[in-house]
Amino acid sequence: MGSFKFFESVPNTPIAPVATFPGNRQVFMKRLDLTHQHVSGNKWFKLKYNFKLALDQLASGVVTFGGAYSNHIYATAAAGYYCGLPTVGFIRGEIKRPLNPTLAQAHAWGMKLIPLSREEYRLKSNNGFLKQLKESYVGYHFLPEGGSNKLALKGCKEMITDRHFDYWCLSCGTGGTLAGLVRALPQTTKVLGVAALKGANFLEKEIRELLGNNLNSACPWTLILDYHFGGYAKTDLELFSFMKQFQKKYAIPLDPIYTGKMVYGVFDLISKEYFPEECSILMLHSGGLQGSEGIREKYGKNII
Ligand SMILES: *Cc1c(COP(=O)(O)O)cnc(C)c1O
Repeated sequence: MGSFKFFESVPNTPIAPVATFPGNRQVFMKRLDLTHQHVSGNKWFKLKYNFKLALDQLASGVVTFGGAYSNHIYATAAAGYYCGLPTVGFIRGEIKRPLNPTLAQAHAWGMKLIPLSREEYRLKSNNGFLKQLKESYVGYHFLPEGGSNKLALKGCKEMITDRHFDYWCLSCGTGGTLAGLVRALPQTTKVLGVAALKGANFLEKEIRELLGNNLNSACPWTLILDYHFGGYAKTDLELFSFMKQFQKKYAIPLDPIYTGKMVYGVFDLISKEYFPEECSILMLHSGGLQGSEGIREKYGKNII
């Protein structure tokens, strides 16, 4: 029998002061990387109410989608393990053997891994294709890629433990976390989403769709598209060197796919005086440090 106990108490995620820049621009970091070792960062919050629904409905399991190094796949597999719910992961592209560390761990937690060709994967939110998949998984709760749905937005509200910052800055993949925060933060807060993907012009539309029409209480938000470093999971020596310096100076680990790019972007914007004087800036560490493994495989073990 599955149990929701794992998600019952919200983990303690402290806000650490990082630095004060000229003009008294104060920068802080919300340490969601400390959420849970396996259900890490924003994924804990995005999965919470999805697992609640699946358990309440006595679902047979949870089905979802992601890349071979996906933090979402990893976190969903772990949450399934901790809640006693079977999980199925449709993986983009072929599944190479031996399994990479992300998929090996997901498999060890009991996730059934099924490859989808890149062409099929592109159809992952197409109604006809989904209907077909759902016929093979009757009674399962389906989660979109990244877990971004209405229930994820609800969970993201619970990240907010302090409402006094002028800016919240976070990395965006699907934008689900941004949408959840924009709905729940005070209207005096400005939210900056730094896209982890290149050519993320579609992102604004997708976020608007997630937000729906009820925008009365939403706070202002902006997408920053300039810090993708060549694209999703692409990176360069400048980013690595920035991350190394940051980690040494502030003793906070970063990942090169999401939070590293966001922090680079925020520091660069501060140097360009994007933010007004006398403001407080909260950077959201969205966790997912396991995802660095794929980057190490690609760029060399000692790079970060
Ligand atoms: C999944 C993920 C994101 C992206 O979150 P979205 O809600 O899809 O925008 C950001 N950071 C980390 C570390 C992630 O794992």
